[in-house]
Amino acid sequence: MRYIEGIHRKSKIALPEYVDDYVTEDNPVRIIDAFVETLDVGELGFKNATPKKRGRPGYNPKDLLKLYIYGYMNKVISSKKLEKQTQTNIEVMWLLRRLTPDDRSIYEFRKNNKHAINEVFKHFTSLLNQWDLFGKEVVAVDGSKFRACNSKKNNFSSKTLNRKIKYLEEKIQKYMTEIEENDIKELNTHKPTKEEIQAKIKELKERKKKYEGYKDEIEKSDIKEISTTDSESRLMAVNNNGIDICYNIQTVVDSKHKLVVDCDIINNPTDHCMLSKIAGNAKEIFDVKELKALADKGYYNATDLKECEQENIYLCPQGEKLYSRRQKPIDENTKEIVYQNFEACGKCDFKDKCTKDKRGRQVRRPIDQDFLDRVDQRTAKNKDLYKQRQMIVEHPFGTIKRGLGMTYFLTKGMQSAKAEISFAFLSYNMKRVINILGVKEIIKRLTGKKGFVSLQFHKYAIFLENIS
Ligand code: SF4
Repeated sequence: MRYIEGIHRKSKIALPEYVDDYVTEDNPVRIIDAFVETLDVGELGFKNATPKKRGRPGYNPKDLLKLYIYGYMNKVISSKKLEKQTQTNIEVMWLLRRLTPDDRSIYEFRKNNKHAINEVFKHFTSLLNQWDLFGKEVVAVDGSKFRACNSKKNNFSSKTLNRKIKYLEEKIQKYMTEIEENDIKELNTHKPTKEEIQAKIKELKERKKKYEGYKDEIEKSDIKEISTTDSESRLMAVNNNGIDICYNIQTVVDSKHKLVVDCDIINNPTDHCMLSKIAGNAKEIFDVKELKALADKGYYNATDLKECEQENIYLCPQGEKLYSRRQKPIDENTKEIVYQNFEACGKCDFKDKCTKDKRGRQVRRPIDQDFLDRVDQRTAKNKDLYKQRQMIVEHPFGTIKRGLGMTYFLTKGMQSAKAEISFAFLSYNMKRVINILGVKEIIKRLTGKKGFVSLQFHKYAIFLENIS
């Protein structure tokens, strides 16, 4: 018995003559090439879309865009790793025609073209729309947290800052006392010297000053916390009762083929107020009058679902009318209406059984509860449809996290993170379409338009020839 043997490293081999021979006709890398070649990078807003007339020539943005799309489709998203791919990966060599940009050029491309990258995602979505790959009847909306480029220790709220400042004050006081005691006892053996302690005090005071500065910043602005590495990221609850510094990624997914119609990024931990926005975008893209949107309880917010309806009356068990008297905030986005009729309760024989409040019974309901009740009834009637929500919307998140390795952001700032997520969902959509249509069919559709134009031009040329 023996194992399958490889060839000797010094043996002569006959390799295919062209790089093109290494990339098969149905290799997905050909789709990236064909798709990017159809783009008008100047119109999409890419920098250096027109080559410089003077100086050292730069890279064509199309080449760097192809490299990034390839990277996101293949779990390689850092600029250093992408640089390595240009030197070692035959598919990338084919895609970039043996160009080997350094990691700085690759990094700068993503940094300088955030908006244009989002436009590329939208452009591919419009192609999917033209190819009739969206059902346009049912969409599912959901959000998921992705770790930002900011560690937990570089995030401060008023509460944590107060705790840290208090700790530093105690520590400074302790060192001050130590200096005094050392002066009295004139101890100079193994204990720190006066100068050493003073240096420590100085360092602690500087830290305290820094934290006090953060506290001032929080108090002067309307933010509740400060992230010092990526200032726009926020502390959010994540899976398994954990917390991390994240962005909240929102998606709307069409039910027909689980293709992502639109995506967005927010730094609010809750999904409140996003349903109308993101589902509305899908409606606009589809250009339809009605669209069924499936969402979980995270989006259960009356303000977002409908304008407030406030004039309601509640009838108590004794038939008394309880009137809406005031509104009270429950959280940042939701208010509740308090219904009461203390006059009637004061005369009621059942008051002791009905409420412990001496003044009388108070009924609290979130604003627009009636409307939410109707939403509940509609959900109960369409349980089967609602069950599909999870299957539809969680598929893209699961795929980009597990399949494409996209669990955290490499860049800082909301716009940069949005560009990263646009790349991830563009790659997801491309992979889905490859499964649905196949590589050859997609290339035919992508390049077909080009062929049609050149054919028209050809006919026109013949026509002119005949006239002359
Ligand atoms: S206490 Fe007030 S709310 Fe309760 S039954 Fe009597 S009147 Fe109605």
